[in-house]
Amino acid sequence: LLPTVAIIGRPNVGKSTLFNRILGHRSAIVDDVPGVTRDRNYAEASFRGRPFRLVDTGGLDPSANEGMLALIRHQTQVAIAEADVLIFVMDGRDGVTPTDEAVVSLLRGIKKPVYYAVNKIDTAKAEPLVADFYRLGLDHLYPVSAEHGIGVDDVLEAVYPHL
Ligand code: GDP
Ligand code: MG
Repeated sequence: LLPTVAIIGRPNVGKSTLFNRILGHRSAIVDDVPGVTRDRNYAEASFRGRPFRLVDTGGLDPSANEGMLALIRHQTQVAIAEADVLIFVMDGRDGVTPTDEAVVSLLRGIKKPVYYAVNKIDTAKAEPLVADFYRLGLDHLYPVSAEHGIGVDDVLEAVYPHL
């Protein structure tokens, strides 16, 4: 069984973009699990010769019935249960949101490794946007641009020892 890396975070922060960026051309979508998890994407990826299973939790984006916080709590619990490593994506343009803060508290209590990506840092000019995230006091905080492929390998380098 391959180690599983799950990408979690609020809607529109760029989870699916990061998922596709990590996959690149090296990987393939391997299955679509029916039922509760039908909207999540699973794929096999590899980094430096080590294969892993990558999960995009985007299917857990908001529905009419559930508030954002309940949804993301659920998404996070599922990811914690099924993944070996988590990548929590935030949006550099939004800054730290209350939902981000709630998820970070949730993640602090877990034993599994978590890496934090501040996405949409597309240019050097955007780098100051990362400063707001320092107040979360996270050990593993990575500015990335999923769209432009910037910083993504740094996240994968950090994940690599767990693969
Ligand atoms: P998800 O809902 O978290 O899966 O987010 P998506 O991957 O669907 O992206 C949401 C929006 O953010 C889309 O319009 C993306 O094109 C945009 N986006 C994703 N990554 C980046 C990035 O690195 N930079 C910028 N500027 N936009 C991004
Ligand atoms: Mg998505």
